[in-house]
Amino acid sequence: MSTVVTQQYMRGRLIAVIAGFAAAMVVGVGLLLWQIEDTKNHVRFGALVGSMADATNDVIHNALRLEQASLQPVAGKPASGHAELKAALTRLQGAYHALELATHGDVTTLESQRITQQQTGWRDSDASGEASDPLIAGIAERSVPASVRRIWVGAETGTPLRSRIRDVVSLANRLDLFNDYRSAAARRVFADLQILADRDVRPVLKRISDSLDREMIGSYGTLQWGLLSVSLAITLASLLFGLRVFVPMMNRVSKAHQDLHDANVSLAAEKIKAQSADRTKSEFLANMSHEIRTPMNGVMGMAELLARTDLDQRQSMFVDVIVKSGTALLTIINDILDFSKIDAGQLKLDKAPFRLGEAIEDVAALVSSRVAEKDLELIVRVDPELPLSFIGDVGRFRQIATNLVGNAVKFTERGHVLIDVSGTVSGDRAEVTVRIEDTGIGIPQDKLGAVFEKFAQVDASSTRRHEGTGLGLAIASRLVEMMDGSLHATSVLGKGSTFSFTIPLTVDEANAAPKTAPVDVSGARVFVIDDNPINRDILLEQLKSWRFDCAAAESGAIGLAFLKRSAEIDARVDCVILDYQMPDMNGADVARRIKADPATAGIPLVLLTSVDQADVGKLAAECGIAAQLNKPTRSSALLETIVSVMQAARAGDAGSEAALQPPPPRPAPLRISTPMERGLASTRGPRGGLDVLVAEDNEVNQLVFSQVLDSLGLRYRIAANGKTAVEMHRAFQPKIVLMDISMPEMNGYEATAAIRQAEAASSHHTPIVGITAHALKGDREKCLGAGMDDYLSKPISPQKLADMIHRWIGEKALAASA
Ligand code: ADP
Repeated sequence: MSTVVTQQYMRGRLIAVIAGFAAAMVVGVGLLLWQIEDTKNHVRFGALVGSMADATNDVIHNALRLEQASLQPVAGKPASGHAELKAALTRLQGAYHALELATHGDVTTLESQRITQQQTGWRDSDASGEASDPLIAGIAERSVPASVRRIWVGAETGTPLRSRIRDVVSLANRLDLFNDYRSAAARRVFADLQILADRDVRPVLKRISDSLDREMIGSYGTLQWGLLSVSLAITLASLLFGLRVFVPMMNRVSKAHQDLHDANVSLAAEKIKAQSADRTKSEFLANMSHEIRTPMNGVMGMAELLARTDLDQRQSMFVDVIVKSGTALLTIINDILDFSKIDAGQLKLDKAPFRLGEAIEDVAALVSSRVAEKDLELIVRVDPELPLSFIGDVGRFRQIATNLVGNAVKFTERGHVLIDVSGTVSGDRAEVTVRIEDTGIGIPQDKLGAVFEKFAQVDASSTRRHEGTGLGLAIASRLVEMMDGSLHATSVLGKGSTFSFTIPLTVDEANAAPKTAPVDVSGARVFVIDDNPINRDILLEQLKSWRFDCAAAESGAIGLAFLKRSAEIDARVDCVILDYQMPDMNGADVARRIKADPATAGIPLVLLTSVDQADVGKLAAECGIAAQLNKPTRSSALLETIVSVMQAARAGDAGSEAALQPPPPRPAPLRISTPMERGLASTRGPRGGLDVLVAEDNEVNQLVFSQVLDSLGLRYRIAANGKTAVEMHRAFQPKIVLMDISMPEMNGYEATAAIRQAEAASSHHTPIVGITAHALKGDREKCLGAGMDDYLSKPISPQKLADMIHRWIGEKALAASA
């Protein structure tokens, strides 16, 4: 039942009942008032008739007194009663007039009567008598009760009362004509008067009075019944009101209450259901992530290991495809997982201090090979005025930037991709803006808003050139939102796009000190030769922030001229930064020319190249290049390189081979061990103490671990479950334990707890690194909470694993083992 229906229903009922109630009240009260008025009328006329009877009595009484007095005269005293007779007559006449006026109400009739009365000796009532009596004055306009009217006009008895009263008055007036009341004529008048009064007037008046009394009693009775009926009607109406309005109202209110209660109960049930569905969903996701990452770990790890073996070109290509497809698949899995986590509100930001410049350089490094493949220019600029370190979730920050930069590279075929980091700082709060500008295909204006929606792609056709899930920007925009920031995009179709996000970050005061060049090289002259103006600007900005004296030239020819001139005026340049890819004269050519001129031959040269220019290393050595750096260059690496080549040059060793960065040693080809060799009792490597204990149940992963550990030359053992791991830890006392989390019999957490318990007696502490395929937030905390020291998520790359072992048991241990 909707609220509207209830309200309308109640309003309708209320109006109907109130209208009925009002109508009943009006009719009832009207009837009562009418009845009361009727009763009052009876009282008035009763009083008038009574007054008429009194006046008639007085007339008769005083006439008798006059007669008595004339029969027994007292000497010297006039006959008394005459004045009283006149007064009684006046009252009688007044009453007569009032009743006449009320009965006829017709002026013409009254006037003709008055003329008749004058002719018969009837005197006009004087104003003082009639008008001054309020009873008589109030009666004039009243309607005469029927019983009074009938007798007054003679409709019942034949002779009307009015003419009898008139007769009484004219007989009494006739007494005035006599001087002697003892005369026979006078005595006859007295006798007539008495007979008239006794026989014709007084009984009639009595009859009127009785009938008025009866009517009044009847009227009171009606009034009584009326009152009773009205109060009954009111009671009934109230009852009806209660029944028709309050009862349904109460019913409906209680039903609404019940509905509300039911709705709340079902809502709560739905909520619990939704929450448990959410939990199930995220558990499912975590499990799926585990299930997918575990085999992926095998595929990726083995492929990486395979890549290190002796392969012919075709085999290398196959492995390359496996690694690339695996990486792409992992990206998609991560995207789906991330989006589900954000959607389920499960993603929490993990704030920690981080270096902004390094985070951006990490992002640039990630896409650098793709940039080189597409022959694009990737330019990174971080405002040197910004503090070095901030507090925030660096992983998520990198994720946003990687997505935007990845898209920029993906959708750009020629030109450049610029990553520009700027911002404002006030106190310890900063607003950092990362702007990613590309010169790619651009986005049509009507699609610009939609690209932030999940699964949205500008080109969603099956023939589209670019791969992708359409989740990247949706994730990025939600992450920016979670960081209380904003993400915007502008684009011109065919010209390029600019995505920029701004997020508030806390300045990390503890690590705010900027890097500067060591004192002995600060102020040194560094010269840049690069054809790209943005690159030149950024390099100069960086060099200035390190307090170098710097300048730049846009081509090899200008650069050479500048160097020559500076040598002539003895303003020797201390270092030249050379871009390799330039029109007309490339970096190697310029280097050769610099080295060929004795005036400039001693200047150390740093060459900037794109990653895929593999043969440049050899070329650089031939041209006397002191160091070579891949673009985009990490600022810390650039500074270190410049400083080291300048210091080497100053030590008189400029251009020597020692200053060249040695290429990383290629690991020895790996040997794949057979499952038999991976037996639990087997120990790899030289005899002696155990370096690594691996707790891992999955056979493929055991293989990956054994290959990596073999390649590192470490002594290790593999336990197939947590329980065996605890026993082997006690027996072999390894330097480090790599602990898988999901294992049969005893999982990684339980095994760690058991190991820590066993260690509690001694002061010994074995580093335990949790290895988990669960990528949900909280795993890290769970691992640390269970007593582990670090955490690695699958798929495990050989490099990551080596770094982790190196971190915990140190280089010495590794070297000693080897
Ligand atoms: P995808 O995985 O498909 O790249 P994204 O959410 O990252 O998903 O991007 C959604 C769509 O937005 C892309 O498919 C593409 O059409 C468009 N887009 C994003 N970045 C750019 C860019 N820099 N230049 C041109 N189009 C872009």
